[in-house]
Amino acid sequence: MKRREFLQKIWNDSFGVLPPGKHVAVAGGGLAGLHLAEALLQRGLRVTLYEPRCIGGVRIPLMHACQTPKLRGAFWENAAAFSRQRYEQLIASGYLVRATDSAFGRYYAVNARSLARRLTERLCRAGFVIRRQPFFESEAQNYDGHFLATGASFLPGEKSPLLRATQIVPGHASYATGVNVKEGIVLPPRAEFVHLRDATPAAAKAEALQVFAGKRSFLFHGQRLVTRDRLPAIGFYPPAGENSYDELRLTFLKKNYAVDSLAQESPFLFQGMGYHVLTYAPFLAAAVAAWLTGADKMDENLICNLSPTRFLYRNARR
Ligand SMILES: Cc1cc2nc3c(=O)[nH]c(=O)nc-3n(C[C@H](O)[C@H](O)[C@H](O)COP(=O)(O)OP(=O)(O)OC[C@H]3O[C@@H](n4cnc5c(N)ncnc54)[C@H](O)[C@@H]3O)c2cc1C
Repeated sequence: MKRREFLQKIWNDSFGVLPPGKHVAVAGGGLAGLHLAEALLQRGLRVTLYEPRCIGGVRIPLMHACQTPKLRGAFWENAAAFSRQRYEQLIASGYLVRATDSAFGRYYAVNARSLARRLTERLCRAGFVIRRQPFFESEAQNYDGHFLATGASFLPGEKSPLLRATQIVPGHASYATGVNVKEGIVLPPRAEFVHLRDATPAAAKAEALQVFAGKRSFLFHGQRLVTRDRLPAIGFYPPAGENSYDELRLTFLKKNYAVDSLAQESPFLFQGMGYHVLTYAPFLAAAVAAWLTGADKMDENLICNLSPTRFLYRNARR
């Protein structure tokens, strides 16, 4: 069996493994975790979300969705097409999202904090439980499955399953002007952003003051977690002991990968959103929830490319 067929098999094994009514935990209440929790609830799962810090995750007041300065592949296009519908609905319901047309399609400036608030309110109305504490591995036994949407953070005391595959892009200090988070928002176009790689906040501020002379500007900064191939990592993390792709393949050619992962309390990763959480998360959350509950088949060709197992070592060919 070719590598691609095997990756497809392990994703296919996940179809319908968490039918409606099962109780799952989502670790991480950033924008990825909130979208995921909403989609899982909509598919009839019971969801408990763990978030010890701020709901909404990385504190960035204004974010872009479906925005790209260059041509991208099929995955990005599909995610953007799906997410554009969501943002158009938000605009239609009077929500503060501003749309701009570019050569690469329509993109959106989104008030990220109020989006997080809106998602949380909707979840609370749906009877959703939020626990303001970290999720520890030992809690996995209380659930039928658990999801890690912990962004650039990892479970305390645990090695990141993504360590081999990710890099943290440090020191992006960004300024935006025209954003008035307290008194309602005037959404600026992209041109009014300054993103400086590896700059100190003071240097970024000096640059922003030059660019936005006389205007009030806002600093937002943080780390962005990206994978080696810049794609998210979506899928069950290999059960303990499976350290290389070859071992994994041997073990799971005949067994069901997802059933085994659940039995061994392996997490389902929903991470590595890189620079595009607002483009990827709505699309991936809907797809993952539909797939895991057995409600709808998604494009497995596309999604099997995102399996975290793609980062496992391969033994040298003999
Ligand atoms: C300066 C900057 C500008 C950006 N601009 C954009 C943009 O315009 N558009 C865009 O789409 N993306 C943008 N990004 C990227 C985007 O911010 C990230 O992709 C996004 O924040 C990732 O969301 P997340 O929910 O995966 O992770 P996070 O926002 O990091 O949230 C993870 C959450 O998990 C929690 N957590 C960690 N460990 C545990 C645990 N054990 N138990 C429970 N909870 C836990 C953390 O407290 C945190 O709240 C930008 C990033 C930066 C830094």
